[in-house]
Amino acid sequence: MTASIPRRESGGPRRSALVTGASSGIGLAYADRLARDQYDLTLVARSQQRLEELAKRLRDERGVSVEVLPADLTSPESLARVEARVAEDTTLDLLVNNAGFGTQGRFAELDVAREEEEIRLNVIALVRLTRAALPHMIERGRGEIVNVSSMAGFAPSPFLSTYGATKAFVTSFTESLSEELRGTGVRVQALCPGFTRTEFQERASVDTSQIPGFAWMSAEAVVEASLAGLAKGDLVVVPGGLNKAVTVGTSFVPRAVLRRLMAAASRRLEG
Ligand code: NAP
Repeated sequence: MTASIPRRESGGPRRSALVTGASSGIGLAYADRLARDQYDLTLVARSQQRLEELAKRLRDERGVSVEVLPADLTSPESLARVEARVAEDTTLDLLVNNAGFGTQGRFAELDVAREEEEIRLNVIALVRLTRAALPHMIERGRGEIVNVSSMAGFAPSPFLSTYGATKAFVTSFTESLSEELRGTGVRVQALCPGFTRTEFQERASVDTSQIPGFAWMSAEAVVEASLAGLAKGDLVVVPGGLNKAVTVGTSFVPRAVLRRLMAAASRRLEG
């Protein structure tokens, strides 16, 4: 017997998505775009007020149902709450693990508590929410998970060492999962953006004055590439022609040379 999936006014079954880090940048662009596609949404981030305002706008403009779930995903208690919400949702179609931040500087001088928070958010929260979502998705034979990684995960990232390592984890983890999920109907994607205009750089104290305008993408264009990739079943999505060319080009550069190049580039971005 088919489960009674709620139906849209237009007649098709309703779809639902949970987006972490939905209060700004790429997560906000996912929320906007998914609401336009008539997904019912659950939005997660720390800033309750920003989420409430966004939820109201999306309900008014798009007529979708939006739940706000304020949570600091670096806190085990708050993460457990969101995890429980994901685990009990038997009809979740799409999980977007997007919340993340970076820390810049010489690792030996950085606040180790902040480095740990970075790993908690970029890695632990993503792993736990993925684990919470998968059983129901596998049981239903469908579902999609987007893990927001970064081009920084493809190469060593001196002076962004913890950040780059968390993103290498995310891409590797997602690639491995895709094989485990083969034949289940559940799809995963590692989204690997380059420079994207959001609050990320300011929060990471990156000096953006050295980054040429053509190197940037909008959060909306990044999300567009991600969702187009999902529709095609692309596993690792690098949005934008320039980013793709850089990714392919650097894959031919010897690792020792790449480390030095990345270190020099990072030093120029120190805020
Ligand atoms: P952003 O504008 O700073 O957005 C980050 C989001 O994460 C915000 O909604 C923030 O909301 C949320 N967040 C931060 N700490 C959190 C916490 N402890 N618990 C829950 N939510 C938290 O940056 P963004 O560029 O959109 O970043 C989104 C993702 O893209 C990240 O994973 C980032 O690594 C990745 N990325 C960004 C770029 C880029 O150039 N922008 C490039 C590659 C990859 P609150 O502050 O309200 O909690």
